[in-house]
Amino acid sequence: MKGLIFSVKRYSIHDGPGIRVTFFMKGCPLNCIWCHNPEGISPHSETLIQTDRVGNREFSKEEEVGKYYDVETILEILHKEKVFMDQSKGGVTFSGGEPMLQSEFMLEVMKACKENGYHTAIDTSGYSPMENYLSIIPFTDLFLFDIKHLDDAKHIESTGVSNISILDNYRFLLGSGKDIMVRIPVVPGFNDDPDHLERLKQFLTATKTASLKRINLLPFHKIGSSKYRKFNITYRMGSVEPPSNSEMKKMKEFFQETGVKVKIGG
Ligand code: SF4
Repeated sequence: MKGLIFSVKRYSIHDGPGIRVTFFMKGCPLNCIWCHNPEGISPHSETLIQTDRVGNREFSKEEEVGKYYDVETILEILHKEKVFMDQSKGGVTFSGGEPMLQSEFMLEVMKACKENGYHTAIDTSGYSPMENYLSIIPFTDLFLFDIKHLDDAKHIESTGVSNISILDNYRFLLGSGKDIMVRIPVVPGFNDDPDHLERLKQFLTATKTASLKRINLLPFHKIGSSKYRKFNITYRMGSVEPPSNSEMKKMKEFFQETGVKVKIGG
């Protein structure tokens, strides 16, 4: 069996503990308006036209986005980085896109990673049937779990899908005994109003178990906009500016009231 991957990042330090190798799985059932990896949303391998601009001149070339990897190839990549992962207590993270969209492959590759002694993490939107999470729990050390908005209508409006099953899966995983880090993308005008932040804090406090190890606040940034230009994809965030450092600091203190560690960034 093979998995479709659009990027491999070695020496990653933002996708779980230690130094990690992160595989970005292609395909996502969500379509978030702020997505920083728009080239990862389609579940198919595709040829995108990449345009680089130097001054007034443009240079275009075709770029193949998405390549199939089998489990052995993934293990070979990991074995080469093992010394760094061991020394830093790192491991492997599957991100995306949405890794659970390729749930059969994920089960196979996570099993193999565990059998080879790697710390395993999945960075998930939470939008996948609960039975997929149930099957993969024994081979997963850490879930990086996104919570974007508690209001279903708002969630649908900006991501294209309901949050009902996401929140159900979150509650379910909190009882799994596995480590969870909640990731909240802080997107101005979408989920940063005081009412919503208060609801979110209350939700995280009311549902928390010993599994919840950390809350990561991921400020919206405009770095991703260059990807939209590069791949000629329509950018949907207009002139929305990132939250300021002081706003993020205040938000960090606010979420610390949950009694859980809070970090700005991944
Ligand atoms: S869930 Fe993540 S990868 Fe999927 S569209 Fe949203 S931001 Fe992009």
